[in-house]
Amino acid sequence: MKIAILGGGISGLSVGWLLRQSGWSSTIFEHQSSCGGLARSFRWHGFHCDIAAHRFYTTNQATLKTFSSLVPLVRNIRQSKIFIDGKWITDPVNPLELAIKFFPNPGLSFIWDYFTRESTSGVAAASFDSFALQHYGQSLTEFFFRPYTEKLFGISANEISTTWATQKIRVSGILDMIKRNSKTYFRHFYYPKEGGYGAFCQRFYQDIQKDVRLSTSVKALHVVGNQIVAITYETEDGERTEEFDAVVSTLPLTVFMQLLNISIRLKFQPVSLVYLLLDQPQVSQNHWIYFAHKNFLMNRVSEFKNFSDYGIPQNKTVLCAEMTMDYPREQIIERVIQDLDNVNFIRKGRVIDALLLDEPFGYPIYNRQYEEQLTVAKAALEGYSNLYFTGRNAVFTHMDIDENFESALNLRDTLVQKFQR
Ligand SMILES: Cc1cc2nc3c(=O)[nH]c(=O)nc-3n(C[C@H](O)[C@H](O)[C@H](O)COP(=O)(O)OP(=O)(O)OC[C@H]3O[C@@H](n4cnc5c(N)ncnc54)[C@H](O)[C@@H]3O)c2cc1C
Repeated sequence: MKIAILGGGISGLSVGWLLRQSGWSSTIFEHQSSCGGLARSFRWHGFHCDIAAHRFYTTNQATLKTFSSLVPLVRNIRQSKIFIDGKWITDPVNPLELAIKFFPNPGLSFIWDYFTRESTSGVAAASFDSFALQHYGQSLTEFFFRPYTEKLFGISANEISTTWATQKIRVSGILDMIKRNSKTYFRHFYYPKEGGYGAFCQRFYQDIQKDVRLSTSVKALHVVGNQIVAITYETEDGERTEEFDAVVSTLPLTVFMQLLNISIRLKFQPVSLVYLLLDQPQVSQNHWIYFAHKNFLMNRVSEFKNFSDYGIPQNKTVLCAEMTMDYPREQIIERVIQDLDNVNFIRKGRVIDALLLDEPFGYPIYNRQYEEQLTVAKAALEGYSNLYFTGRNAVFTHMDIDENFESALNLRDTLVQKFQR
């Protein structure tokens, strides 16, 4: 039984690793020279830098046990703030705190608009915007929910699906915002003690190194009847075609569909990351700082040292700023430094080096058409009897690492059951 796994991010590595645990081998194709995809880390000035800082949180004890057995973890109490209209507020956003901090104006409007918002019981919201208006009223929507979401996706909140609102808005209403134990309201999280978040992927890689082909790009799929029978891939030695019995894709869905020459109207929001090395021991104690409004280029800033400070320089620190707004590339670093200096978060003169990275497949965009388009894609692909999908960008669903792993676990069981001799 020959199984090809396309993509060596955490999903592809998880499937390969889990298959190995069941005594099966696979071949993982990864076009980058290192594995890990969005969950990789790289070393820079002695620091382990993630693709934006990642955190590990799960409510599933079995998943936690598996990840704890992979690498030593530290347990952190989440520390996070939001900078909005000149003030620092707590994250997750608490509408009462907003009302108090911005009293009397617009604080009173938050309360007035909330209690006088139109009654819409039984009416399903058509978009993110109408969901926020229905649940929080006009002022809170205009002040917080709308700007941050539009900044993240680069489209109007009217064009964003309600699914994003139901999954990601981190308050459930002014009177009942205390759902503190859900995944969205996590109070603590885990992080590898050493090696950055990418330590998980590195550990998977160590265990199944023989199954992984790095710097190998999948270029074409060969179909006979209802099966994908072979894969053409490119390495530095040229192109080769190889036959397989089953194919697992973890590639971004749009990339995979292109390999089959099927076009689909789904989009990913690219994310740019600016890493700043500062000549000071620490900038703040926070893990994340959110910048809600569009007058700041970055959406979020993290400080790696606060996730784990084991084995890294003590007299310096590295920040990572995430951006999804359009901006001239050559000006991004300067603008981020200026924005952070303007709010006295850092001093410009303390920055001793900077680095810019781009990830083209940052966030699946949940526009109002995405569910319909996903149904079209599924219909086009479900006819292939030996093709399987797993992972956040492959199934176009915002999933965290733990969810990717659990999905890989289900897929391993399906494969073993189906192909067992
Ligand atoms: C900014 C940001 C912050 C996040 N924060 C968190 C967090 O705090 N906690 C958390 O749990 N999750 C977080 N996530 C989500 C998490 O990163 C993803 O769920 C996870 O990394 C997805 O893994 P994957 O293997 O499914 O996909 P990917 O990581 O995208 O892997 C796909 C792989 O396919 C490879 N590939 C693409 N095309 C080809 C080709 N033609 N041939 C061969 N290989 C190819 C790519 O190089 C890549 O390695 C975050 C994501 C982002 C973008």
